[in-house]
Amino acid sequence: MPVVGGDSGGSVSASALRLTPQRRAVLDVVAESDDHPTAGQVLDRVRERVEGVGAATVYRTLALLVESGQVAELRLGQGQALRYDHTVYRHDHLVCTACGQVQDTHVQLDAGALAELEEKTSFTVAGYDVQLHGRCARCAAQDNAKESAQ
Ligand SMILES: [Zn+2]
Ligand SMILES: [Zn+2]
Repeated sequence: MPVVGGDSGGSVSASALRLTPQRRAVLDVVAESDDHPTAGQVLDRVRERVEGVGAATVYRTLALLVESGQVAELRLGQGQALRYDHTVYRHDHLVCTACGQVQDTHVQLDAGALAELEEKTSFTVAGYDVQLHGRCARCAAQDNAKESAQ
């Protein structure tokens, strides 16, 4: 594909991203998924709707949607598959280390804590992105049940 205008640093705008039925299905699947699916899970769900979709098409579409800002990419750390999120505005995540579930949280960090951090480190915070690791409610309940059974 030729580079129009020679703007190699430009991002793909939403209108420039032609929504073929396959791309539409990828966008719809991510929009309807609240569980932050991996690319593999998106592929499975797209295939339930559109027959014969290739993995490469789905993965390339996900990359384009991330580039155009319609889908957010979530990195949970080394060795973890990338997750995809339809919520593109700033929010934080609760990551269960037992079952791998990723939940959104919209609880804001205390402004006092941020001010204290800036004061102590002389670092100017422009934004943050928090992942809290621990046990989801269901896994915590299972842990408690195991403990009380012993
Ligand atoms: Zn869990
Ligand atoms: Zn999220």
